[in-house]
Amino acid sequence: MTVFHHPDFDHHETVAFHANEQSGLKAIIAVHNTTLGPSMGGCRMFPYVDEEQALTDVLRLSKGMTYKSALGNIPVGGGKSVIIGDPYTQKTPELLLAMGDFIESQNGCYIGAEDSGTSVADLSMMSKRTKHISGIFSDGEHGGDPSPSTAYGVYKGIEVAVEHQLGSDLKGVRVAIQGVGNVGYHLVRHLSEAGAVVLAADINQANLDRVVQEFGVQEVPLDQILSAEAEVLSPCAMGGAINSKTIKNIKAVIIAGGANNQLDTEEMGQALAGLGILYAPDYVINAGGIIDCYYQTVAEENSNRIREHVDIIADNLKTIFQRSKTTGHATSDVADEMALAVLEAAATDNSIDTSLDNISQTS
Ligand code: NAD
Repeated sequence: MTVFHHPDFDHHETVAFHANEQSGLKAIIAVHNTTLGPSMGGCRMFPYVDEEQALTDVLRLSKGMTYKSALGNIPVGGGKSVIIGDPYTQKTPELLLAMGDFIESQNGCYIGAEDSGTSVADLSMMSKRTKHISGIFSDGEHGGDPSPSTAYGVYKGIEVAVEHQLGSDLKGVRVAIQGVGNVGYHLVRHLSEAGAVVLAADINQANLDRVVQEFGVQEVPLDQILSAEAEVLSPCAMGGAINSKTIKNIKAVIIAGGANNQLDTEEMGQALAGLGILYAPDYVINAGGIIDCYYQTVAEENSNRIREHVDIIADNLKTIFQRSKTTGHATSDVADEMALAVLEAAATDNSIDTSLDNISQTS
């Protein structure tokens, strides 16, 4: 396994591996870019088939976080961590404490948050060993979990995409959601309230049953959700939903979901544009969670401003869709260009405060 020659290595600043024999922890932290500030990103626990798959995931996810924060207009860099293991059977307090030690060893260059396979309770356990944790702040109203903010941003993004592509609001629009976990659940709630018709599939039957019972969601077989008869396809599970096999069967005219790394390869962005499918770039539409975590970690601010800030997602998407239309470039390429422009401007602007003091845990 090589790192520097890995296809997804993109001048990452740090890629740290850690194994702790006693707890069984095997984890990787990747810090992609700290131009805008200390890196922040979720800690994912997943039963990766091997270390290569885990490395690919953490390299791609951490790069996405850099671009996400850049367009989300928050002064944090891009980082991510992965724990190799099954969150349902291999998670123990010892393992989480060891992960806390690992995060602490990065001296604040990486701030961990919740991701697929980890919960607020897990992050709280890690925070016994490190102060560099976000997403656990609770003020009575705000419970720490950033997923509701992510879902709200995705919902607003779908609204903008539907308006752009179909010229309508969400009433009666069919949205097929792959994965109704933390983000998907709250997304279903928003969409149902807006009058959309929601279809869903999930490998976890309990998660699926919850949205069927609470919101009357239509259950779709797992192997049919990506090709469901719907105007919007919303990937909200793991990455790589849009790949050379699945793209041929997509019937939706909009792809807008919460999952990270929805495109298996960069070329998928151009392929979607060629098919006339409007793609809401994942790191743009799902930035609500990191914006939420940012507010949780900055002392002077409070959670009342989160919603207002998350609305930047709708504005960004409007700009991206419009630029894509006028230039003919894929929306994924337009988003990358915009994010890189923010990073380049920041790299030459000495007034930006990227010190650790600017971002410290408050809870
Ligand atoms: P989660 O683990 O709570 O939910 C994921 C759901 O997808 C689960 O119910 C799982 O059973 C289901 N799933 C997994 N593989 C599937 C498959 N092949 N087909 C159908 N369902 C499948 O995770 P989450 O926190 O809701 O995050 C979902 C996605 O959104 C992830 O890609 C995550 O990185 C991304 N994301 C999450 C946040 C956040 O605030 N939680 C923020 C930004 C991005």
